[in-house]
Amino acid sequence: MNVAGQTIVVMGLGESGVAASEFLARRGARVIAMDVKREEDFTRTREALEALRALGVRVVLGAHPPELLRAADVIVLSPGVPPTLAVLDEARRAGVPILGEVEVAARFLRGILIGVTGTNGKTTVTAWIGDLLARCGYCAHVGGNIGRALVRIVQEVHDARCLVVAELSSFQLEMAETLRPRVAVVTNIAPDHLDRHGSLEAYIEAKRRIFRHQTEADWAVLNADDPVVRTMVGATRARILFFSRRAERAPAAEVERGVFLRGERLILRWEGEERELAHRADIPLRGAHNVENALAALAATLAGASLSRTMEAPTLLALAEALPLREALRAFPGVEHRLEWVARIEGVDYYNDSKATNVASTLTALEALEGPIVLILGGRDKGDDFTRLRPVAAKKVAHVLAIGEAVEKIRAALEDIVPLTRCATLEEAVRTARHLASAGGVVLLSPACASFDMFENFEHRGRVFKEAVHRMLSEATPPDRRRSEC
Ligand code: ADP
Repeated sequence: MNVAGQTIVVMGLGESGVAASEFLARRGARVIAMDVKREEDFTRTREALEALRALGVRVVLGAHPPELLRAADVIVLSPGVPPTLAVLDEARRAGVPILGEVEVAARFLRGILIGVTGTNGKTTVTAWIGDLLARCGYCAHVGGNIGRALVRIVQEVHDARCLVVAELSSFQLEMAETLRPRVAVVTNIAPDHLDRHGSLEAYIEAKRRIFRHQTEADWAVLNADDPVVRTMVGATRARILFFSRRAERAPAAEVERGVFLRGERLILRWEGEERELAHRADIPLRGAHNVENALAALAATLAGASLSRTMEAPTLLALAEALPLREALRAFPGVEHRLEWVARIEGVDYYNDSKATNVASTLTALEALEGPIVLILGGRDKGDDFTRLRPVAAKKVAHVLAIGEAVEKIRAALEDIVPLTRCATLEEAVRTARHLASAGGVVLLSPACASFDMFENFEHRGRVFKEAVHRMLSEATPPDRRRSEC
């Protein structure tokens, strides 16, 4: 893709739009960077706008002027901008190509792309693959929907043997034309995001785009336990590696080619042979969902490593023997805000699961932990049904502390089966939790709600929780402090 001298409109000036504008400007494009937000609405990216102007980028705020879009050679969309905007239809009719930021990055990328998509677990699996590869001695970068925009990574990777692990949302895949992940991972598919895609079929179709340009030289890592993902075998020309946790209880579910759980052992089966990769006890993260994530990450790591040619004749079986996968698996610290262990105070474990912005995620967290649990719930209601928490709450939850706009709805859903207290702030909830929790128990922030009523985003909410816990820790007795550090 030669962009020098081209007029390129970049729409949406969050992290990926800013990164794309900078990237394209440095390659000689005449960049017009647009956002419907006004200058005063930009807080953290404001300095970034100044930096863009200094690079010669024309920044247009407060509107999407149609004449500028019609006159562009290419339009680049950030993931947050819906491709269905009326103003884009006009540009389409005028024949202007519209690409996503990830597509632009893919056209310039050197290195081996590992793409991860699915409804749940994308961030965890993406981070885990990057971590495993790095601990096994590979040059590995992580980006996309997680952390840094892919175009930023493109600028850092000059060695074709490097592996680039990208989390790809369905929105990003929708806008991908030529993207060819050498390893494509699909974690699971649940009816989600239907508001934007319109139907489950359209959502699945967007996910299947990850395979579109794969060849027989590539890999697809698929969840054999997921009925929708299993059928994706027919959507790719790539070699298939399944992962499965179900075989743990139903040996008939063991996969012919892939990574699966047999009893307590994680096994690779390939070309009729087997290698033991690790034990279940080596998985450092809690919960059955993280067993799935570990299996997916191991399969993708082996597939990616086999393409890197750092080793001679790197077959999967040889790699399974040569790489320190077991130690690497054990060392993964997890991802912040996802069932993240924070501290132990007076024998009580505190977990930050601020990423749980819906009931399904909170259920996952409650299933992963042993009670009695003091659960901090609440925030901005997303229309979820809190009564789905009743069965597990009755079994494991000792007390609910409710915060934010959803308090009354939570109270109505749970009050008759579990003691419930309303708290004005998250800090107050943490202090109250300390009095309610007993040694051997858990305090869990897993709000089942969005954070925007009280916080900038879920990351901010998680940090406030952790700070409150750490403040209590510093006041706690010395033995507690020692325990929390090991
Ligand atoms: P994503 O990036 O797809 O949102 P994350 O890795 O950030 O996924 O995890 C978000 C939440 O999704 C977790 O807190 C957990 O509740 C749930 N989750 C993670 N992995 C899985 C999985 N394999 N299956 C089902 N739910 C999962």
